Amino acid sequence: MGMLAQAGADLTPNAEDADVIVVNTCSFIGSAQQESIDTILEMARHKSGGKAKRLVVAGCLVERFHDEIRKNIPEVDAVVGTGELEKILAAAGVTETPRAPSPFNILSSTTPTSRPEGDHRRGQGRFARDSWDGAVADLPNYLYDDHTPRVLTTPRSSAYIKIAEGCDHPCSFCIIPQLRGQFRSRRFESVIAEAERLAQSGVREITLIGQDTTCYGEDFGLKDGLAVLLEKLAGVEGLQWIRFLYAYPNKITGRLLETIAAHDNICSYIDVPLQHASATVLKRMKRGGGADLFLRSIEKMRRVIPGVTLRTSFIVGFPGETEKEFEELCGFVKEAAFDWMGAFSYSDQEGARAFDQEKKISLREIESRRKSLMSIQKKISRAKKKSLVGREFNLLLEGTSTESDLLLEGRTSMHAPEIDGKVFVNDYPEGNEPKEGEFYRCRITAAHDYDLVAEIV
Ligand code: SF4
Repeated sequence: MGMLAQAGADLTPNAEDADVIVVNTCSFIGSAQQESIDTILEMARHKSGGKAKRLVVAGCLVERFHDEIRKNIPEVDAVVGTGELEKILAAAGVTETPRAPSPFNILSSTTPTSRPEGDHRRGQGRFARDSWDGAVADLPNYLYDDHTPRVLTTPRSSAYIKIAEGCDHPCSFCIIPQLRGQFRSRRFESVIAEAERLAQSGVREITLIGQDTTCYGEDFGLKDGLAVLLEKLAGVEGLQWIRFLYAYPNKITGRLLETIAAHDNICSYIDVPLQHASATVLKRMKRGGGADLFLRSIEKMRRVIPGVTLRTSFIVGFPGETEKEFEELCGFVKEAAFDWMGAFSYSDQEGARAFDQEKKISLREIESRRKSLMSIQKKISRAKKKSLVGREFNLLLEGTSTESDLLLEGRTSMHAPEIDGKVFVNDYPEGNEPKEGEFYRCRITAAHDYDLVAEIV
């Protein structure tokens, strides 16, 4: 979007107004692929019966089905993979003179680096796309930097910064490494420069993302890179909430925890997708670990960062998951008592190692296990949310609630943008109408299973 806007395109979120429609796609599980395809077909109707003249498909579905997309959906004029962002201008047919020429190259030079683990796994075929019909063999190697033009689509006080791309882990259910390529980090100075610029423009909350943020910097020899980066970001003027998403369990170091604990503007919040708790399932998932090890690690996180908010996600119905292994997961969830938890149904993906494993669990059984795991978490969540009633927190006001015009809505540092529950605000001091994008002190007055109700004090 940044490149298109810089080249003179007017951006609109309304497909019916657009001359060119770009569908950015996801492809990591079956339901995401289906949603992407449904959206492309829906947008294609704007070409046949509407104003649109070009339809462009971008993103991970292109990495997976490059040739197949144009072959099967003739309305699609061009595809742009995740490693070829510079092609978006030609794909969209944007040829006008730039309005505000950038002093920088759109794709400034970054020499891709790699971790020895990634090179090793590449040798073992971890990133191969041989079994995928219609995919091109080349892996994406793209990384944006602080000179890349961006258009933020988040509320004005909040922004994501991607600090790394790709993943070197061997998880047997996952095709993200084949889609996104080998792990590579953005330059340290580039991340800081972007954060400073965002803070100067009014952004107060930064969420660092990547497929695996906890490997940050390893490819250029930085030890404890994420902790070092967070420390530096904590000193950027204006940033009030800094958090990172998606920690790999065995990459959470003592230094990382101490860094979070030491800075008020680094949120006491860790999202660590564990995927399962049974050691035998985790072994088949090619991840390692198990309930005992995870419980010790959680105990350490809670000890070093008092009051830390923990989020995790699990996959249920992995091939061969027995009743006993599932029960083990349920027992672990009860004991660990996460603040936030997501449960995903196993999705069979061609090209993932688990695709060839026998003893697939029926969809019905998977759904029933997912529901029962979520019902355990619901009780835990309800009790945890109830214990917050009467306490005060800082709240970032996000505006009128999507649930009711009579309520406002916001988040505390315990809530990451978009994924966690909500805080509904139903009262504030008279004459002090709260403004979107500002921070307020609030008191929790009621709790639901996942959401909270608060008054601004
Ligand atoms: S760490 Fe995450 S992105 Fe990487 S292979 Fe495992 S599940 Fe996939």
